[in-house]
Amino acid sequence: MSGLLDELYRLQERIRFVQSRERERDTVPAELTEVDRAFREKLEAVQRLKQRLLEAEVEHRRASAELADQQEKQKKYQAQLRNVQSSREYSAVLNEMDGVEKQIRASEDKVLGLEEELETSREDLQKREKNLPLETQEHEEKMKDWRAAQRLINEELQKAQREILEIEARMRPRELAEFRRLIEKKGGLAVVRVVNNSCSACHVKVRPAAMQVLKAGSEIIYCDSCRRILYYDSNNP
Ligand SMILES: [Zn+2]
Repeated sequence: MSGLLDELYRLQERIRFVQSRERERDTVPAELTEVDRAFREKLEAVQRLKQRLLEAEVEHRRASAELADQQEKQKKYQAQLRNVQSSREYSAVLNEMDGVEKQIRASEDKVLGLEEELETSREDLQKREKNLPLETQEHEEKMKDWRAAQRLINEELQKAQREILEIEARMRPRELAEFRRLIEKKGGLAVVRVVNNSCSACHVKVRPAAMQVLKAGSEIIYCDSCRRILYYDSNNP
């Protein structure tokens, strides 16, 4: 039984180690957050610009097609105007022409605006893309030490994860499932040491009878108060 408790305690320690190191690895250090944010912003700006260019190109094609349609209509009305039979018909066609001319002016403005936007956006994108390789290189240079630290953490994590798998492979599936459930429920602390005859998690005294069982190491004892598994380390009481 004490063998099992030793394993559980070690397993919990390794699980907690992995969690805290993963957090560390995934948290950009304070002195680099601004550098990292500024670089990400540059990458995102390029992406946004590309996206907007695609949209503006579609809008431009659509507006140009609309303008062509309206110009067709205008020609049709001009032809009609030459063949009108009455003054009533004449003013009706004239009225239609007025309308279509207004639409043409609006479409021309739109097409022109989009052409200007496309031109400046393409220039902007070109400039940004030209600078990006050097900026990326400079950024990686600033992040170099941090990347190296991340690689070291990853190596530690691999080792710890291997050990977790080894311990788990030695455990019975039912015991392992129970332990995983408990560690989840108890905020990462399922097995806690007994220090000065008390539970080190909630500091409630362990009953003398339970202390005796613990020292004998013959069965699993839970804390009366917080219901965690108690661990008595005879080498380090
Ligand atoms: Zn307790």
